Formats: sequence, structure tokens, C-alpha cells
Amino acid sequence: MTKIAAIIVAGGSGKRMGTAIKKQFIKLQDKEVLAHTIEAFNALEEISEVIVVTGEEDIHKVQTEIVEAYHFNKVSKVVAGGKERQDSVYNGLMATSEEIEYVMIHDGARPFISKELLKRAIEKTIECKATIIAVPVKDTIKVVEPKVGIVERTPEREKLWAVQTPQSFEKKLLIEAYEDAQQKGLQVTDDSMIVEAYGNRVHVVLGDYTNIKITTPEDLVIGESILSNKQ
Ligand code: C5P
Repeated sequence: MTKIAAIIVAGGSGKRMGTAIKKQFIKLQDKEVLAHTIEAFNALEEISEVIVVTGEEDIHKVQTEIVEAYHFNKVSKVVAGGKERQDSVYNGLMATSEEIEYVMIHDGARPFISKELLKRAIEKTIECKATIIAVPVKDTIKVVEPKVGIVERTPEREKLWAVQTPQSFEKKLLIEAYEDAQQKGLQVTDDSMIVEAYGNRVHVVLGDYTNIKITTPEDLVIGESILSNKQ
């Protein structure tokens, strides 16, 4: 069977939530956001290993209060993240077992990922080596000059897609692309940018509008409603 690992990144500070408790530990229907996320991957038969990346100060908490408490048997390591998201992903990538062939990188704060979507992403990644999950944007998007608040231009909406996770890659390709990005000093906000810059095609798998990232307080209200509708 193809060996696939999930790398779940939860090493951010979550400042935009504005709560004392970090967003990955906030409970939605009595279960932490991060526990919902890990559960989706732990339950999928195609996944053989799960690596959780978190802040150094939270490793013990994640290990005892999440991994052990919910018996997530596929979590092989909980490792410390880095300064930027890409540093956290690289640490996770380095923690995967030798035999892993494909990796799925997923935001710890994106707990509503469905089994069907994960299966679609896996199938396409084995076929094409690099995939992202994305949905067409619903709003018109403007490029705005930040200091003065004036519209610079309006990109064609038909070509704009909002990118979600997981982003999935052949492991060998992602390691090569990360090393190339480190040499070039490239700063990115998602992993596919690294693979694009390395010169590889990244294929898009149609995502789901409920696969939201919990970022600001209103996302918690939307999240409760997504969970109630699932039941
Ligand atoms: O900041 P952003 O919302 O893009 O973060 C996406 C995911 O990356 C979150 O789950 C966050 O915890 C994680 N992250 C990380 N290490 C960082 C920054 C963000 O693991 N240094």
C-alpha cells in the first residue's frame, strides 16, 4: 500500500482570534479544534502516519491532552514548529518516517475536512505529484494599496480561487523544492508556492466551502453550525 503521511501544522500564535486560549485548543461541540482535525486523518485508512507540529511550549499538552486523551494511534511524533509556517512544515516533513512516499500538509485550524475530499486529493496526488484544494471565490477581489486604501486593480474573478488545505505532494519532490526555496531565501504563505517556484505543475482539486480555517471569532459560530449540520 502507498505510504502517506499527514503533517498537521498548529504552530502559529493565532493572534487574529484574540482569545487567551489558542485557537487550536478552543472547543467546538466539546472537542478541541485540533482534535477534530487530527481525527479526520487518523480515521482514514489511506493514512499511515500523522505528524503534529506545534509550539515548543505546547508539545506536552498536545501529547497528553489531545493525542493520548483521544487515542490517536497514528500520531507518531509531536514536534516543535518554527518562526514562519514554512519552517513548521519543514520540521514536520523531516519528522516523517523514511518509507513515506506522499505527504498531505494540513492546517491544524481547519477541522471540517471531509473523508471524500481527502480521498479525492490522495487519488489526484498519486497521479500528478502535487495538488492543492481550492474553491472559486464568491466575491470580487480587489488589489488595494495598503497605506492609502485605494484600489490598484481588479483581477478577473473567473481566474481566482481561494486555497485551502491539505496540500499534497510526493515527498521527494517537496523536500527538493523546500531545499531549493531555502537556498533562494523564498518567503511563502503556502506550500504549493514552493513547488511552483521549483518549476513543477500544481493541480487543483475542487474543495468544499465548509473546509474553513478557524481564524477569527465569527468562524467559531460558523464552525458550530457546520458541525451540527454534519450530524
Ligand atoms: O497563519 P496562518 O493562518 O496561515 O496559519 C495556517 C496554519 O499554519 C495554522 O494552523 C497555524 O497554526 C500554522 N502555523 C505554524 N507555524 C507558524 C505559523 C503558522 O504551524 N509559524
